[in-house]
Amino acid sequence: SVRVRFAPSPTGPLHIGGARSALFNWLFARHHGGRFIVRIEDTDLERSSRESEENILNALHWLGIDWDEGIQTGGPNGPYRQTERLSVYRQLAAQLLAKGQAYYCYCTEEELAAEREELLARGELPRYLGRCRHLSEEAKAKLAAEGRKPVLRFRVPENRIIIIQDRVRGQVEFESNGIGDFIIMKSDNIPTYNFAVVVDDHDMNITHVIRAEEHLSNTPRQILLYEALGWPQPEFAHISLILGKDRAKMSKRHGATAIEQYQKLGYLPEALVNFLALLGWSPGGEQEILSLPEIVEQFSLDRVAKNPAVFDIDKLNWLNGHYIRQSPLDRLTRLAVPYLMEAGYLDEAPDAEKLAWLEQVVAIARNYISYMQEITQHVDIFFRDEVIVSEAEARDVLTWEQMPAVMEAACRLFADAPELTEESVKGIIKAIGKQTGLKGKFIFQPLRVAITGRTHGPELHQIIPVIGKERTVARLRAVLR
Ligand code: GLU
Repeated sequence: SVRVRFAPSPTGPLHIGGARSALFNWLFARHHGGRFIVRIEDTDLERSSRESEENILNALHWLGIDWDEGIQTGGPNGPYRQTERLSVYRQLAAQLLAKGQAYYCYCTEEELAAEREELLARGELPRYLGRCRHLSEEAKAKLAAEGRKPVLRFRVPENRIIIIQDRVRGQVEFESNGIGDFIIMKSDNIPTYNFAVVVDDHDMNITHVIRAEEHLSNTPRQILLYEALGWPQPEFAHISLILGKDRAKMSKRHGATAIEQYQKLGYLPEALVNFLALLGWSPGGEQEILSLPEIVEQFSLDRVAKNPAVFDIDKLNWLNGHYIRQSPLDRLTRLAVPYLMEAGYLDEAPDAEKLAWLEQVVAIARNYISYMQEITQHVDIFFRDEVIVSEAEARDVLTWEQMPAVMEAACRLFADAPELTEESVKGIIKAIGKQTGLKGKFIFQPLRVAITGRTHGPELHQIIPVIGKERTVARLRAVLR
Protein backbone atom coordinates (compact mmCIF):
# COMPACT_ATOMS: atom_id res chain seq x y z
CA SER A 1 0.00 0.00 0.00
CA VAL A 2 1.01 3.60 -0.58
CA ARG A 3 3.48 5.18 1.83
CA VAL A 4 4.71 8.69 1.12
CA ARG A 5 6.59 11.27 3.10
CA PHE A 6 7.38 14.94 3.50
CA ALA A 7 10.99 15.33 4.58
CA PRO A 8 11.75 18.99 5.24
CA SER A 9 15.17 20.31 6.18
CA PRO A 10 14.53 22.61 9.14
CA THR A 11 16.65 25.47 7.84
CA GLY A 12 13.92 28.13 7.72
CA PRO A 13 10.17 28.55 7.87
CA LEU A 14 7.82 26.45 5.75
CA HIS A 15 7.56 28.05 2.32
CA ILE A 16 4.95 27.89 -0.40
CA GLY A 17 7.00 25.29 -2.29
CA GLY A 18 7.51 23.03 0.72
CA ALA A 19 3.85 23.29 1.66
CA ARG A 20 2.90 22.31 -1.89
CA SER A 21 5.19 19.23 -1.69
CA ALA A 22 3.70 18.28 1.67
CA LEU A 23 0.19 18.74 0.34
CA PHE A 24 0.75 16.66 -2.82
CA ASN A 25 2.13 13.80 -0.74
CA TRP A 26 -0.74 14.10 1.71
CA LEU A 27 -3.30 14.16 -1.12
CA PHE A 28 -1.70 11.14 -2.76
CA ALA A 29 -1.78 9.21 0.52
CA ARG A 30 -5.36 10.16 1.30
CA HIS A 31 -6.54 9.43 -2.24
CA HIS A 32 -5.05 5.93 -2.09
CA GLY A 33 -5.87 5.26 1.55
CA GLY A 34 -2.13 5.09 2.24
CA ARG A 35 0.06 6.51 4.99
CA PHE A 36 1.71 9.92 5.14
CA ILE A 37 4.92 10.32 7.09
CA VAL A 38 6.77 13.47 8.19
CA ARG A 39 10.50 13.15 8.74
CA ILE A 40 12.96 15.85 9.72
CA GLU A 41 16.16 15.98 7.64
CA ASP A 42 18.47 17.91 9.91
CA THR A 43 21.88 16.60 8.85
CA ASP A 44 22.98 20.11 7.93
CA LEU A 45 23.88 20.84 11.53
CA GLU A 46 24.83 24.45 10.98
CA ARG A 47 21.70 25.54 9.18
CA SER A 48 19.14 23.38 11.01
CA SER A 49 17.28 24.56 14.08
CA ARG A 50 14.50 23.40 16.36
CA GLU A 51 12.87 26.76 15.80
CA SER A 52 12.54 26.10 12.07
CA GLU A 53 11.35 22.57 12.76
CA GLU A 54 8.59 23.95 14.97
CA ASN A 55 7.67 26.58 12.43
CA ILE A 56 7.31 23.93 9.72
CA LEU A 57 5.24 21.59 11.86
CA ASN A 58 3.01 24.41 13.12
CA ALA A 59 2.40 25.55 9.56
CA LEU A 60 1.43 22.00 8.54
CA HIS A 61 -0.98 21.79 11.48
CA TRP A 62 -2.47 25.15 10.58
CA LEU A 63 -2.98 24.06 6.97
CA GLY A 64 -4.77 20.96 8.21
CA ILE A 65 -2.14 18.57 6.83
CA ASP A 66 -1.94 15.75 9.35
CA TRP A 67 0.36 12.75 9.33
CA ASP A 68 0.01 9.15 10.33
CA GLU A 69 3.56 8.54 11.32
CA GLY A 70 6.62 10.64 11.99
CA ILE A 71 7.97 13.40 14.14
CA GLN A 72 5.69 14.24 17.10
CA THR A 73 3.34 11.40 16.14
CA GLY A 74 5.81 8.54 16.43
CA GLY A 75 5.41 5.18 14.73
CA PRO A 76 7.12 1.85 14.13
CA ASN A 77 9.89 3.13 11.84
CA GLY A 78 11.34 5.88 13.97
CA PRO A 79 13.12 7.87 15.14
CA TYR A 80 11.93 10.39 12.56
CA ARG A 81 14.64 12.98 12.99
CA GLN A 82 17.84 12.18 11.12
CA THR A 83 20.23 13.33 13.84
CA GLU A 84 18.65 10.65 16.04
CA ARG A 85 19.37 7.96 13.44
CA LEU A 86 23.11 8.43 13.07
CA SER A 87 23.98 4.90 14.14
CA VAL A 88 21.83 3.51 11.32
CA TYR A 89 23.70 5.49 8.67
CA ARG A 90 27.10 4.77 10.21
CA GLN A 91 26.50 1.05 10.19
CA LEU A 92 25.43 1.04 6.54
CA ALA A 93 28.33 3.29 5.59
CA ALA A 94 30.70 0.80 7.21
CA GLN A 95 29.05 -1.95 5.18
CA LEU A 96 29.56 -0.06 1.91
CA LEU A 97 33.16 0.62 2.90
CA ALA A 98 33.83 -3.03 3.71
CA LYS A 99 32.46 -4.11 0.33
CA GLY A 100 34.57 -1.55 -1.50
CA GLN A 101 31.52 0.38 -2.65
CA ALA A 102 32.71 3.36 -0.69
CA TYR A 103 36.16 4.67 0.12
CA TYR A 104 37.86 7.28 2.26
CA CYS A 105 38.85 10.49 0.56
CA TYR A 106 41.46 12.77 2.12
CA CYS A 107 41.34 15.60 -0.40
CA THR A 108 41.44 19.07 1.06
CA GLU A 109 39.13 21.95 0.17
CA GLU A 110 41.99 23.53 -1.79
CA GLU A 111 42.65 20.39 -3.81
CA LEU A 112 38.99 20.02 -4.64
CA ALA A 113 38.69 23.68 -5.59
CA ALA A 114 41.69 23.36 -7.90
CA GLU A 115 40.11 20.31 -9.56
CA ARG A 116 36.88 22.22 -10.09
CA GLU A 117 38.72 25.13 -11.68
CA GLU A 118 40.57 22.82 -13.99
CA LEU A 119 37.40 21.03 -15.14
CA LEU A 120 35.56 24.30 -15.66
CA ALA A 121 38.50 25.67 -17.65
CA ARG A 122 38.29 22.59 -19.88
CA GLY A 123 34.56 23.19 -20.29
CA GLU A 124 33.66 20.05 -18.33
CA LEU A 125 31.16 19.56 -15.54
CA PRO A 126 32.86 19.92 -12.19
CA ARG A 127 32.94 16.58 -10.41
CA TYR A 128 35.24 14.53 -8.23
CA LEU A 129 37.66 12.66 -10.47
CA GLY A 130 38.57 9.94 -8.00
CA ARG A 131 42.00 10.96 -6.80
CA CYS A 132 41.58 8.87 -3.61
CA ARG A 133 39.88 5.91 -5.30
CA HIS A 134 42.86 3.62 -5.15
CA LEU A 135 44.91 4.81 -2.21
CA SER A 136 47.10 2.16 -0.62
CA GLU A 137 46.89 1.55 3.12
CA GLU A 138 50.26 3.23 3.42
CA ALA A 139 49.16 6.34 1.56
CA LYS A 140 46.04 6.57 3.73
CA ALA A 141 48.05 6.27 6.89
CA LYS A 142 50.35 9.00 5.71
CA LEU A 143 47.51 11.38 4.91
CA ALA A 144 45.83 10.63 8.23
CA ALA A 145 49.11 11.32 10.00
CA GLU A 146 49.10 14.78 8.39
CA GLY A 147 45.95 15.37 10.41
CA ARG A 148 43.57 15.10 7.44
CA LYS A 149 40.06 13.93 8.34
CA PRO A 150 38.58 11.81 5.57
CA VAL A 151 35.10 11.87 4.11
CA LEU A 152 33.50 8.71 2.79
CA ARG A 153 32.74 8.69 -0.91
CA PHE A 154 30.49 6.38 -2.86
CA ARG A 155 32.25 4.62 -5.70
CA VAL A 156 30.08 5.48 -8.69
CA PRO A 157 30.13 2.68 -11.28
CA GLU A 158 31.55 3.68 -14.64
CA ASN A 159 29.79 3.77 -18.02
CA ARG A 160 26.31 3.34 -16.72
CA ILE A 161 23.13 4.95 -17.97
CA ILE A 162 20.77 5.53 -15.09
CA ILE A 163 17.14 5.62 -16.10
CA ILE A 164 14.42 7.22 -14.02
CA GLN A 165 10.80 6.51 -14.85
CA ASP A 166 9.47 9.67 -13.33
CA ARG A 167 5.72 9.79 -12.73
CA VAL A 168 5.63 13.44 -13.75
CA ARG A 169 8.61 13.97 -16.03
CA GLY A 170 8.52 10.66 -17.87
CA GLN A 171 11.74 8.82 -18.68
CA VAL A 172 14.85 10.74 -17.67
CA GLU A 173 18.38 9.46 -18.25
CA PHE A 174 21.70 10.29 -16.60
CA GLU A 175 25.21 9.06 -17.38
CA SER A 176 27.10 7.76 -14.39
CA ASN A 177 30.34 9.13 -15.83
CA GLY A 178 29.05 12.64 -15.31
CA ILE A 179 28.33 12.13 -11.64
CA GLY A 180 31.63 11.70 -9.86
CA ASP A 181 32.13 9.82 -6.62
CA PHE A 182 29.96 11.71 -4.15
CA ILE A 183 30.25 12.06 -0.40
CA ILE A 184 27.99 9.90 1.74
CA MET A 185 29.54 10.58 5.15
CA LYS A 186 31.14 13.91 5.97
CA SER A 187 34.37 14.16 7.93
CA ASP A 188 32.41 14.61 11.15
CA ASN A 189 30.73 11.25 10.54
CA ILE A 190 27.38 12.85 9.69
CA PRO A 191 25.66 11.51 6.56
CA THR A 192 24.92 13.69 3.54
CA TYR A 193 21.39 14.25 2.32
CA ASN A 194 21.70 11.78 -0.58
CA PHE A 195 22.74 8.95 1.69
CA ALA A 196 20.41 9.59 4.62
CA VAL A 197 17.40 10.08 2.36
CA VAL A 198 17.89 6.66 0.75
CA VAL A 199 18.41 4.89 4.07
CA ASP A 200 15.32 6.49 5.55
CA ASP A 201 13.06 6.07 2.56
CA HIS A 202 14.01 2.40 2.60
CA ASP A 203 13.64 1.96 6.37
CA MET A 204 10.30 3.72 6.32
CA ASN A 205 9.04 1.63 3.40
CA ILE A 206 8.36 4.64 1.22
CA THR A 207 6.66 3.60 -2.02
CA HIS A 208 6.55 6.98 -3.81
CA VAL A 209 8.95 9.89 -3.50
CA ILE A 210 7.07 13.01 -4.50
CA ARG A 211 9.24 16.10 -4.23
CA ALA A 212 10.45 19.27 -5.91
CA GLU A 213 12.06 19.18 -9.35
CA GLU A 214 15.28 20.61 -7.91
CA HIS A 215 15.99 17.12 -6.55
CA LEU A 216 15.78 15.40 -9.93
CA SER A 217 19.56 15.60 -10.38
CA ASN A 218 20.06 13.91 -6.99
CA THR A 219 17.91 10.99 -8.03
CA PRO A 220 20.54 9.09 -10.07
CA ARG A 221 22.87 9.19 -7.07
CA GLN A 222 20.10 7.84 -4.89
CA ILE A 223 19.27 5.12 -7.41
CA LEU A 224 22.90 3.99 -7.39
CA LEU A 225 22.77 3.76 -3.60
CA TYR A 226 19.60 1.67 -3.71
CA GLU A 227 21.42 -0.68 -6.08
CA ALA A 228 24.56 -0.84 -3.97
CA LEU A 229 22.57 -1.62 -0.86
CA GLY A 230 20.47 -4.18 -2.71
CA TRP A 231 17.21 -2.42 -1.98
CA PRO A 232 14.13 -1.97 -4.18
CA GLN A 233 13.55 1.57 -5.41
CA PRO A 234 10.51 3.66 -4.75
CA GLU A 235 8.74 5.40 -7.61
CA PHE A 236 9.74 9.00 -8.20
CA ALA A 237 7.61 12.01 -9.06
CA HIS A 238 9.33 15.37 -9.39
CA ILE A 239 6.94 18.28 -9.33
CA SER A 240 7.72 21.47 -11.19
CA LEU A 241 9.25 24.66 -9.96
CA ILE A 242 7.01 27.47 -8.85
CA LEU A 243 7.57 30.67 -10.82
CA GLY A 244 6.32 34.19 -10.31
CA LYS A 245 4.03 35.80 -12.87
CA ASP A 246 7.14 37.25 -14.52
CA ARG A 247 8.43 33.67 -15.01
CA ALA A 248 11.31 34.17 -12.61
CA LYS A 249 11.76 31.66 -9.79
CA MET A 250 9.29 32.40 -6.99
CA SER A 251 10.86 34.72 -4.46
CA LYS A 252 9.96 37.39 -1.94
CA ARG A 253 9.45 39.85 -4.78
CA HIS A 254 6.32 37.94 -5.83
CA GLY A 255 4.68 38.14 -2.42
CA ALA A 256 5.10 36.41 0.89
CA THR A 257 6.89 33.07 0.57
CA ALA A 258 6.52 31.73 4.12
CA ILE A 259 3.23 30.10 5.11
CA GLU A 260 3.28 31.87 8.49
CA GLN A 261 3.11 35.22 6.68
CA TYR A 262 -0.18 34.22 5.09
CA GLN A 263 -1.45 33.06 8.46
CA LYS A 264 -0.48 36.40 9.99
CA LEU A 265 -2.29 38.34 7.27
CA GLY A 266 -5.46 36.41 7.93
CA TYR A 267 -5.68 34.05 4.98
CA LEU A 268 -7.87 31.03 5.60
CA PRO A 269 -6.03 27.69 5.56
CA GLU A 270 -8.66 26.02 3.39
CA ALA A 271 -8.23 28.75 0.77
CA LEU A 272 -4.46 28.39 0.80
CA VAL A 273 -4.78 24.61 0.49
CA ASN A 274 -7.14 24.99 -2.47
CA PHE A 275 -4.64 27.39 -4.04
CA LEU A 276 -1.60 25.16 -3.36
CA ALA A 277 -3.39 22.15 -4.83
CA LEU A 278 -3.75 24.05 -8.10
CA LEU A 279 -0.04 24.91 -8.21
CA GLY A 280 0.88 22.21 -10.67
CA TRP A 281 -2.16 19.97 -10.40
CA SER A 282 -5.52 20.51 -12.02
CA PRO A 283 -8.79 18.64 -11.87
CA GLY A 284 -10.39 17.41 -15.05
CA GLY A 285 -12.80 20.32 -15.46
CA GLU A 286 -12.62 24.08 -15.20
CA GLN A 287 -13.56 24.15 -11.53
CA GLU A 288 -11.20 26.22 -9.38
CA ILE A 289 -12.96 26.20 -6.06
CA LEU A 290 -12.65 22.74 -4.63
CA SER A 291 -13.26 21.46 -1.16
CA LEU A 292 -10.62 19.26 0.42
CA PRO A 293 -12.68 16.06 0.00
CA GLU A 294 -13.17 16.92 -3.67
CA ILE A 295 -9.43 17.43 -4.15
CA VAL A 296 -8.62 14.19 -2.34
CA GLU A 297 -11.07 12.32 -4.52
CA GLN A 298 -9.74 13.74 -7.77
CA PHE A 299 -6.02 13.97 -7.02
CA SER A 300 -3.72 11.99 -9.26
CA LEU A 301 -0.09 12.27 -10.36
CA ASP A 302 -1.27 11.91 -13.95
CA ARG A 303 -2.72 15.38 -13.75
CA VAL A 304 0.39 16.99 -12.27
CA ALA A 305 1.84 19.28 -14.92
CA LYS A 306 5.36 19.03 -16.30
CA ASN A 307 5.66 22.74 -16.98
CA PRO A 308 6.31 25.20 -14.17
CA ALA A 309 3.48 26.32 -11.93
CA VAL A 310 2.86 30.06 -11.79
CA PHE A 311 2.25 31.70 -8.46
CA ASP A 312 -0.53 34.23 -8.96
CA ILE A 313 -1.23 36.24 -5.83
CA ASP A 314 -4.34 37.77 -7.41
CA LYS A 315 -5.79 34.31 -7.79
CA LEU A 316 -4.98 33.49 -4.17
CA ASN A 317 -6.66 36.73 -3.09
CA TRP A 318 -9.70 35.95 -5.17
CA LEU A 319 -9.95 32.44 -3.74
CA ASN A 320 -9.42 33.65 -0.20
CA GLY A 321 -12.06 36.35 -0.60
CA HIS A 322 -14.44 33.68 -1.80
CA TYR A 323 -13.77 31.51 1.25
CA ILE A 324 -14.12 34.52 3.55
CA ARG A 325 -17.60 35.19 2.17
CA GLN A 326 -18.60 31.55 2.74
CA SER A 327 -17.18 31.21 6.21
CA PRO A 328 -19.27 31.30 9.42
CA LEU A 329 -19.40 34.80 10.91
CA ASP A 330 -18.43 33.78 14.42
CA ARG A 331 -15.21 32.27 13.11
CA LEU A 332 -14.38 35.32 11.00
CA THR A 333 -15.15 37.64 13.88
CA ARG A 334 -12.78 35.76 16.13
CA LEU A 335 -10.15 36.09 13.43
CA ALA A 336 -10.89 39.80 12.97
CA VAL A 337 -10.54 40.78 16.64
CA PRO A 338 -6.72 40.88 16.81
CA TYR A 339 -6.55 43.12 13.72
CA LEU A 340 -9.23 45.43 15.13
CA MET A 341 -7.35 45.64 18.42
CA GLU A 342 -4.09 46.33 16.68
CA ALA A 343 -5.68 49.09 14.61
CA GLY A 344 -7.02 50.66 17.80
CA TYR A 345 -10.71 50.00 17.09
CA LEU A 346 -11.02 47.85 20.17
CA ASP A 347 -9.07 48.44 23.33
CA GLU A 348 -9.96 45.23 25.10
CA ALA A 349 -11.07 41.74 24.26
CA PRO A 350 -14.76 42.03 23.33
CA ASP A 351 -17.46 40.59 25.59
CA ALA A 352 -20.37 38.53 24.24
CA GLU A 353 -22.51 41.56 23.49
CA LYS A 354 -19.73 43.34 21.67
CA LEU A 355 -18.94 40.16 19.73
CA ALA A 356 -22.53 39.92 18.56
CA TRP A 357 -22.30 43.50 17.28
CA LEU A 358 -18.89 42.83 15.70
CA GLU A 359 -20.40 39.95 13.76
CA GLN A 360 -22.71 42.44 12.05
CA VAL A 361 -19.75 44.65 11.21
CA VAL A 362 -17.84 41.68 9.82
CA ALA A 363 -20.88 40.53 7.83
CA ILE A 364 -20.73 43.79 5.89
CA ALA A 365 -17.00 44.42 5.72
CA ARG A 366 -16.11 40.92 4.57
CA ASN A 367 -17.56 41.73 1.16
CA TYR A 368 -14.69 44.12 0.55
CA ILE A 369 -11.65 42.16 1.63
CA SER A 370 -9.28 39.46 0.36
CA TYR A 371 -7.72 38.58 3.71
CA MET A 372 -8.72 39.37 7.27
CA GLN A 373 -6.11 42.03 7.99
CA GLU A 374 -7.74 44.20 5.32
CA ILE A 375 -10.87 44.43 7.42
CA THR A 376 -9.40 47.36 9.31
CA GLN A 377 -9.66 49.45 6.12
CA HIS A 378 -13.43 48.98 5.88
CA VAL A 379 -14.79 49.45 9.36
CA ASP A 380 -14.06 53.03 10.37
CA ILE A 381 -17.71 54.05 9.73
CA PHE A 382 -18.78 51.66 12.49
CA PHE A 383 -16.25 52.78 15.07
CA ARG A 384 -15.55 56.47 14.59
CA ASP A 385 -17.69 59.04 16.36
CA GLU A 386 -16.83 61.77 13.95
CA VAL A 387 -17.35 61.38 10.22
CA ILE A 388 -14.55 62.73 8.09
CA VAL A 389 -15.63 63.92 4.67
CA SER A 390 -12.42 63.88 2.73
CA GLU A 391 -13.46 63.25 -0.88
CA ALA A 392 -14.18 66.36 -2.95
CA GLU A 393 -17.15 64.58 -4.49
CA ALA A 394 -18.62 63.92 -1.05
CA ARG A 395 -18.10 67.51 0.09
CA ASP A 396 -19.95 68.64 -2.99
CA VAL A 397 -22.99 66.53 -2.10
CA LEU A 398 -23.28 68.38 1.20
CA THR A 399 -23.69 71.67 -0.68
CA TRP A 400 -26.73 70.49 -2.63
CA GLU A 401 -29.71 72.73 -1.95
CA GLN A 402 -31.95 69.71 -1.19
CA MET A 403 -29.57 68.50 1.50
CA PRO A 404 -31.01 70.25 4.60
CA ALA A 405 -34.56 69.11 3.85
CA VAL A 406 -33.38 65.51 3.58
CA MET A 407 -31.41 65.75 6.82
CA GLU A 408 -34.26 67.30 8.76
CA ALA A 409 -36.77 64.68 7.67
CA ALA A 410 -34.25 61.91 8.27
CA CYS A 411 -33.36 63.16 11.75
CA ARG A 412 -36.97 63.19 12.79
CA LEU A 413 -37.83 59.81 11.32
CA PHE A 414 -34.73 58.03 12.63
CA ALA A 415 -35.10 59.56 16.08
CA ASP A 416 -38.71 58.43 16.29
CA ALA A 417 -38.10 54.90 15.03
CA PRO A 418 -38.59 52.31 17.77
CA GLU A 419 -35.93 49.99 16.37
CA LEU A 420 -33.58 50.06 13.40
CA THR A 421 -33.58 46.96 11.24
CA GLU A 422 -32.90 46.52 7.53
CA GLU A 423 -36.65 46.61 6.93
CA SER A 424 -37.39 49.61 9.10
CA VAL A 425 -34.52 51.57 7.54
CA LYS A 426 -35.85 50.84 4.08
CA GLY A 427 -39.24 52.14 5.27
CA ILE A 428 -37.71 55.29 6.69
CA ILE A 429 -35.85 56.04 3.47
CA LYS A 430 -39.11 55.71 1.58
CA ALA A 431 -40.81 58.03 4.06
CA ILE A 432 -38.04 60.61 3.61
CA GLY A 433 -38.87 60.55 -0.10
CA LYS A 434 -42.54 61.10 0.56
CA GLN A 435 -41.97 63.92 3.01
CA THR A 436 -39.49 65.81 0.84
CA GLY A 437 -40.84 64.98 -2.57
CA LEU A 438 -37.29 63.93 -3.60
CA LYS A 439 -36.08 60.72 -5.20
CA GLY A 440 -33.04 58.51 -5.79
CA LYS A 441 -29.61 60.03 -5.44
CA PHE A 442 -31.00 63.25 -3.91
CA ILE A 443 -31.91 61.22 -0.88
CA PHE A 444 -29.28 58.52 -0.86
CA GLN A 445 -26.20 60.59 -1.52
CA PRO A 446 -26.66 63.18 1.28
CA LEU A 447 -27.56 60.42 3.72
CA ARG A 448 -24.60 58.32 2.72
CA VAL A 449 -22.14 61.19 2.94
CA ALA A 450 -23.51 62.32 6.29
CA ILE A 451 -23.28 58.84 7.75
CA THR A 452 -20.13 57.49 6.11
CA GLY A 453 -18.30 60.52 4.70
CA ARG A 454 -18.16 58.87 1.28
CA THR A 455 -20.21 58.59 -1.88
CA HIS A 456 -19.74 54.85 -2.27
CA GLY A 457 -20.02 51.89 0.02
CA PRO A 458 -22.33 49.24 1.38
CA GLU A 459 -26.11 49.62 1.31
CA LEU A 460 -27.50 52.14 3.79
CA HIS A 461 -30.10 49.71 5.09
CA GLN A 462 -27.26 47.32 5.97
CA ILE A 463 -24.99 49.76 7.75
CA ILE A 464 -27.47 52.01 9.58
CA PRO A 465 -28.79 49.30 11.93
CA VAL A 466 -25.20 48.44 12.84
CA ILE A 467 -24.18 52.06 13.40
CA GLY A 468 -27.25 52.42 15.58
CA LYS A 469 -29.84 55.08 16.10
CA GLU A 470 -27.96 57.45 18.34
CA ARG A 471 -24.88 57.70 16.21
CA THR A 472 -26.89 57.87 13.00
CA VAL A 473 -28.94 60.82 14.24
CA ALA A 474 -25.85 62.55 15.61
CA ARG A 475 -24.14 62.28 12.22
CA LEU A 476 -27.18 63.67 10.41
CA ARG A 477 -27.33 66.59 12.82
CA ALA A 478 -23.64 67.25 12.44
CA VAL A 479 -23.94 68.10 8.75
CA LEU A 480 -26.82 70.50 9.40
CA ARG A 481 -24.66 72.55 11.71
N1 GLU B 1 15.26 17.48 2.94
C1 GLU B 1 15.03 17.64 1.53
C2 GLU B 1 14.51 19.05 1.27
O1 GLU B 1 13.99 19.66 2.16
C3 GLU B 1 14.01 16.62 1.08
C4 GLU B 1 14.12 16.25 -0.33
C5 GLU B 1 13.38 14.98 -0.59
O2 GLU B 1 12.16 14.99 -0.46
O3 GLU B 1 14.02 13.99 -0.86
O4 GLU B 1 14.63 19.55 0.18
